[in-house]
Amino acid sequence: MATATLQGASAPIPIPKIICVGRNYAEHAKEMKADVPTTPVLFLKPPTAVIHNHDRVIIPSVSKELHHEVELIVLIAKGGKNISRARAMEHIAGYGVGLDMTLRDLQSDAKKKGLPWSVAKGFDTSAPISEFVPAASVADPHRLTVELTVNGYARQKGSTSDFIFKLDHLLSAISEIFTLEQGDIIFTGTPEGVAQTVAGDTLLARLLDASGKPLVSIMAHVDQA
Ligand code: MG
Repeated sequence: MATATLQGASAPIPIPKIICVGRNYAEHAKEMKADVPTTPVLFLKPPTAVIHNHDRVIIPSVSKELHHEVELIVLIAKGGKNISRARAMEHIAGYGVGLDMTLRDLQSDAKKKGLPWSVAKGFDTSAPISEFVPAASVADPHRLTVELTVNGYARQKGSTSDFIFKLDHLLSAISEIFTLEQGDIIFTGTPEGVAQTVAGDTLLARLLDASGKPLVSIMAHVDQA
């Protein structure tokens, strides 16, 4: 089973499921020509989508357009259902950075036809994740920066201060629909600047604290099936 690494924890943590938030930055909604949502847009990735540092993202043969989406990711400490916003932050074990790899051609086609996003978002290797830093070591998770370089060139950069839905709101809303369990990972949405990435590219995503200090990172190499 896929696992997550929490710095300081004695053992890897199994990941029961991965819940992703779509459109949590207004500028990204704009670039996708989508409305800014009034409630969080949610979808899932299977745990089999997880890869770790230096692993390869494999573009399935059914797609010709892989996109990168760099995102703050959250590791759940203790589960719960109908978690209140007031208690939501107590359920977070740590923070990391992830890549919500997306088959944009398949997703665009699915949107047009009203079909699910499961293939476009949940294919094998679609969820590169970093290690997680303990939540207790992060003073304010809404003052973090996620950034992505491709082959060393800056591609995406965003601050969690620009979230449409803050973390307490997200956890509360998600737990109304999906019971949260220990080890679940939440992808919290990408800032603007999503773009195509092709076989041979090297992606490096980093999470920075409010002072600009790197906390964790994930490197992934893109390859064709
Ligand atoms: Mg995303």
